[in-house]
This record gives sequence, C-alpha cells and structure tokens, in this order.
Amino acid sequence: MKKIALVEYGKLELQDNWEGVRTIQDGTVKVDVSACSICGSDIALFKGKRSLVDERYFGHEFSGVVIDAGAGANGITSGMRVGSELSRTCGQCWNCLNGLPNYCKSMNDALLPGGFSEETLVLNRPDYSFISPLPDEIDDITATLLEPTNCAYHAARQANITPGDSVVVFGMGTIGLITACILKSMGASSVIGIDNSKERLAKVRELNLVETIDCNDKDWLEQVRERGGTFGVDVVVEATGAVQVLKNAFDAVRPGGKLVVASVYHGPAGDLELLPIMRKELTIKGAKGPFPHRKTEGSSAALETLVKLQGELKKIITVYEYKDALKAFDDMMSGAALKAVIKFK
Ligand SMILES: [Zn+2]
Ligand SMILES: [Zn+2]
Repeated sequence: MKKIALVEYGKLELQDNWEGVRTIQDGTVKVDVSACSICGSDIALFKGKRSLVDERYFGHEFSGVVIDAGAGANGITSGMRVGSELSRTCGQCWNCLNGLPNYCKSMNDALLPGGFSEETLVLNRPDYSFISPLPDEIDDITATLLEPTNCAYHAARQANITPGDSVVVFGMGTIGLITACILKSMGASSVIGIDNSKERLAKVRELNLVETIDCNDKDWLEQVRERGGTFGVDVVVEATGAVQVLKNAFDAVRPGGKLVVASVYHGPAGDLELLPIMRKELTIKGAKGPFPHRKTEGSSAALETLVKLQGELKKIITVYEYKDALKAFDDMMSGAALKAVIKFK
C-alpha cells in the first residue's frame, strides 16, 4: 500500500510498501482513499508550525469508499462513497447547546493515519461524524474540496452579507478563493481577490473566478476604492494568516464595515495599529471552520454548496499522481498550484 509519510518536519517520504491499516478500532470505519488534497494546515504541519504529535494525522481533505463500516453509525455502510467534512457535533455539550458546535470535539485521533495514505481509519460514532456520503453528481477529485468548502461556507455565513455588498478577500489560497466564489453566489455586487503572489494572481485571472488586485501595486488601495466604493468596501475577508495584512484589511474596509478573519495567525501582532477598530466602528468576526451548518432536513449545507458551485470550484484543482506528491507540496507552497489534489486511485 502507498503512503505519503511526514517522517520529520520538512521531510516527506513516499512509502510504496506501507503495510496498511491492520485492525479496525471501535467507533471507526475503514476508508479506501481515492484522493486527498493538500490543506494549508498540512503545509503548516510539514513546516513544523503545527505539531504532528498533537494532531496525530496528516491529510484530512479526502474522498474514498468505505471498505469496512464498523458499527455503521450515521447510516454509513460498506461500499458507500464518502468525503471528509469534519462535522463533529454531539448536540449535548455546552458548545453545541450554545451555537458553537465547531468547538464540540477535538479532531485529534479522528483519523489514523490520515488521507495521505491509500487507506485510513476514520472516527464515525453517533456523536462524531467525520465523513459525509457523497451524491453521484460529484466526482472523487472535486469531493476533496468538501472540508475547505465547509470552512469557506462558514466564513461566508459569518460575513452575513446583504445582496449588493462590495467585498474584498485577502489571500487567494483555497479558503480565500472558495469564500470569494460563495460570496459572489450569495449576491455580492463585486468581489475582489487580493494577493501578493504574481503567479497565483495570474492563475485566478486566467480562471476568471474573481477580479484581482496585486497588493504589491503602490496604488492597490485606490484600485479597491475605485472598484468597491469611495470609502472602502462593505466586507473584507482576511484569509492569509499574515498579521501585516490586517493593516491592509483595516484600510480596505469602509467605516461601519465588516471584517471576517478566516485565517490562522502563527505570530504576534507586532506593531499593528488597532485604532481603526474604534475609529471606523468595525464589526470583526472570526470564522473557525469547519462548522456543521445543516439544511432543515439534516443534509450538509456545505456539500450542497460544493455541488452547486462545482463547475467553478473544480477549476482551482491541479491533480497529481501519487508518485508526484512531493512536487504537489512544492507547487502548493510556491503558488504554482491553487489547490493540489493527490490521486491514489
Ligand atoms: Zn483543510
Ligand atoms: Zn457537543
């Protein structure tokens, strides 16, 4: 069996003769992985910015087929096509009862060893459903976008836009791009993506997903105001994880506007000027995905969104064979790929 192993921080190894998952544990199902995409958090693990000891899995954005359904909780059966969505909610703890199901449980131990291997165990108990059954309309490669789409959908919901709002999204990585596409579908009048990678911006323009501005341009703020509103845009989404971009976000948003922070900061705020929060009367919201937003009949709102927008969203994917996995990681880090998906089948 094949496995892409993170043997130490900064070092990946293709293990062609991995022994596979030997025993199924209580409360888990075994999934035959079709494909797994590389998340920004996988890159953070790779670089040692997150701890493999704490998180204990590598690769969480995968699709595949259940080959052993264990106790069959949540209607999961053998042979079912599934995608990882991370909707973990018991419905009974304080977090769940107070509108914060995304805090219900830790993801640690949810996957063993994770989606960068040909098969993996996945926790699936009545109170913890990591996977969602996939409808026929979506293919295995596109379905690897389910978890990032879930995070982006939550960020878009946190933005709580009014149709006609102008929007700027900082960071044209996966979450920024998908959030931008969702906000457009929700009725934003203009959505501008801002990034500092010329390569990434060229790709976004080529795919014609959103308008773009290069933040290396000296007049980037004038460009924002020209296109999004004289005093700034109604909503800014920060999806870079770079503290200094928050300053740009404060500049780009109009007085009384909203700022959604949908990224992970690994460093302190340094000398960031915080006065605009009061001066501009900003509303600042965090967005910690994934979040189990459900339709009234219980189905996943993120999955429905992905199916609906898949024609656009699948454009961001570059597919790599397992043997080219190291290049896939390099291309994600350089911006040569917007979203790298590694194919096992
Ligand atoms: Zn992810
Ligand atoms: Zn709970």
